[in-house]
Amino acid sequence: MMSDIKFKTEKSDLEIVKFMIGVYCRGKHKSKKGELCEECSRLWEYVQFRRSKCPYGDKKPFCSNCPIHCYKPEMREKIKEVMRYSGPRMMFYNPRVAWAHVIETLRKKRADKKALKQKASQKKPDCKDIEEK
Ligand SMILES: [Zn+2]
Repeated sequence: MMSDIKFKTEKSDLEIVKFMIGVYCRGKHKSKKGELCEECSRLWEYVQFRRSKCPYGDKKPFCSNCPIHCYKPEMREKIKEVMRYSGPRMMFYNPRVAWAHVIETLRKKRADKKALKQKASQKKPDCKDIEEK
């Protein structure tokens, strides 16, 4: 069923983000394993909220490949910091996921180059159309 597939995709990439926020929070904010400090909980809630509103929906690639320019500046900086911090550590904690991420990034870069050439003829949904919380 379609909804099952959608749920599965959404769960896996959101879980990676949650995992990365967890790594960051444990390392930077000294929170306990499996717990997030208030600041990181807010970030995690925001990520889920944006995701549910995103016009890209389940086609949206995860992590840094995600078109996070639709995040508000404060949260964008925070998630970037999380990615920068946790990205290299993913290799240690979860190599399989980390490699999937590297491959995805390369694929996205190649696709971006292609998309740039085709951009003039195609219009993507605009993130600015979504209202801020
Ligand atoms: Zn934290």
